[in-house]
Amino acid sequence: MTDTPLILFNSLTRAREQFRPINDGEARVYTCGPTVYNYQHIGNMRAYVFADTLGRVLSWKGYKLTHVINITDVGHLTSDADAGDDKMEKAASESGRSAWDIAKYYTDAYWRDIERLNIRQPAKWSIATEHVEQMIDFAKSIADKHCYELDSGLYFDTSTVPDYGRLARAATDEGESRIDPVEDKRHQTDFAIWRKTPEGETRQMEWDSPWGRGAPGWHLECSVMSKMYLGETFDIHTGGIDHREIHHPNEIAQNQAHSCSADTGANIWMHNNFLVDRGGKMSKSAGEFLTLQVLVDKGVHPLAYRLMCLQAHYRSELEFTFENLIAALTRLKRMVMTVVQLREETEPAERCTHPRLREMLDAFGAAVSDDLNTPKALTHLDDILALKKIDRAEKLAAIAEADAVLGLNLLTLERADLRMRPVDADIEEDEVEHQLDLRAEAKMNKNFPAADAIRNMLADKGVEIMDGDPLRWEWRIDA
Ligand code: AMP
Ligand code: ZN
Repeated sequence: MTDTPLILFNSLTRAREQFRPINDGEARVYTCGPTVYNYQHIGNMRAYVFADTLGRVLSWKGYKLTHVINITDVGHLTSDADAGDDKMEKAASESGRSAWDIAKYYTDAYWRDIERLNIRQPAKWSIATEHVEQMIDFAKSIADKHCYELDSGLYFDTSTVPDYGRLARAATDEGESRIDPVEDKRHQTDFAIWRKTPEGETRQMEWDSPWGRGAPGWHLECSVMSKMYLGETFDIHTGGIDHREIHHPNEIAQNQAHSCSADTGANIWMHNNFLVDRGGKMSKSAGEFLTLQVLVDKGVHPLAYRLMCLQAHYRSELEFTFENLIAALTRLKRMVMTVVQLREETEPAERCTHPRLREMLDAFGAAVSDDLNTPKALTHLDDILALKKIDRAEKLAAIAEADAVLGLNLLTLERADLRMRPVDADIEEDEVEHQLDLRAEAKMNKNFPAADAIRNMLADKGVEIMDGDPLRWEWRIDA
C-alpha cells in the first residue's frame, strides 16, 4: 500500500524498531485477552482497540495477518503475583453460579463489545480451559530443568533463565517490588506453573496432572497457546502496560525454558498505556466501573469511544471524562455528516487514484507507520474530509481507505445511528421531532411564548435543542 517502513516501539529493547516479519509478507500477532470473571471495563477495551489498530495497520500495509487473542477462563489470581484466589472461582462463589457459566456469560458480553467497537475478528479466539492438556505437556517438558515442587504446586525457578525480568526492568528501570505470600519459594519472582487444589478442597475448575489435581498457573496458557497457533517464535505480542511487569516476563521465562534458548518467543512486545479517570487507573476489582454499555445507556455510540482511543497515542495515558467522550462523539458526527452528504451524491470510486488525495493518503500512511500515530493520522483524514473541489467518488474512496485502518465505519454510519437515546430518557425520538415541528410552526407564526413553552417542556425531558447547529443535528437528549 505505502512504502514507508513500519516502525513499532518494542518494550523489550525500549526502542523504536522497523518491523521485519519472520516470514516475508506475513504478520503473526498474539494479544493477551480478558479474564472473564466480570464485564470488561472501557480501559480493558482500550487494549483491544489498540491491538485491532495494529492488526489493521499490518493488513493495510499488505501483510497477511494471523491474529490470536486468548480468553482467560481459569488461573488468573486476584493479584498478578501468586496471591489470592482464582478470579473465576471467587466470582462463582460470590454469585452462586458455576465458574463455567460465569466464563460463558462474560465471554459473550466481551464479544458483544468487540463487535460494537468494530474490532475485527481474530483468526482464533483461544480459550484457556480448552488447552489444559497442552499446558500440562508444556509444563512436563520444562519441569525437570526449570521447576520445583512445593505443597501448593509446581513453581518456575526464575534463576534458570537468562536475564529474567528484562522486559519489566527495561520498562520501569527498577522493576516492580512484589509482595510475596508463598512461603518457601526459592526466589521472590518465582511463579506457579501448576497450582494444586489444597487437601480436602475441590475446585470447580480442576484437572489431574503429574503434580496433583489442580489448575494451571495463569502465565502458562499464553506461552502454550501462542506457540501452538503462531509458532515457537512469532512476530508481535501485545497487552496492557501492566503486563510488562509480571505476566509477560513470566511468559518470556517459560518460552526460554521451552526453547532452551534466550529467545523471548516474540520479536516485538508492545504495550498500550492505561485509560485512567480522575481517581486513577480503572480496575474491575474496584467495585463499580465503566463499561461500554454504560456509555451506550447514556446515548453515546460505541464508535465515539473508539475514536476517543484513536485520538490519543496508544503509549500515552488517556484520561477518560464524559466531556472528552462527547467531544469525540461530536467529531465523529462531523465526519459522518460529510460522508453522508458525499454519499447522497455519488458512490465511492473503486480505488482512489487522484494525485492530491494519494498524497494525503501517503501522509496518513506515514503517520500510522510511525508507531501507530493515530492522532496524527486523524488530522490527515480531516484534511481529506475538508478538501473541496475534488472528485467526490475519489474522495469517498480515499475516506474508505483511511477508514480501513481507523475502523470507524465512516462509509456506513448514518446520522440516525449516532443520535442514540439514553435508556432513562422519557421521550421517544418521534415525539421530539413532532414537538420540534410544532415549535417551528409557532415561531413562524411569531407565537414566541408557545415556542418557548415547547422548548421548556422538552428541556424538562432532557432534550437540548441546538438552534443553528452547524451539524444540523438540531437536538440531543442529555443523560
Ligand atoms: P484482564 O481482563 O484484567 O486480564 O485485562 C485485559 C486487558 O486490559 C489487559 O491487556 C490489561 O493489561 C488491559 N488493561 C487493564 N486495565 C486497563 C486500563 N485501565 N487501561 C488500558 N488497558 C487496561
Ligand atoms: Zn497473556
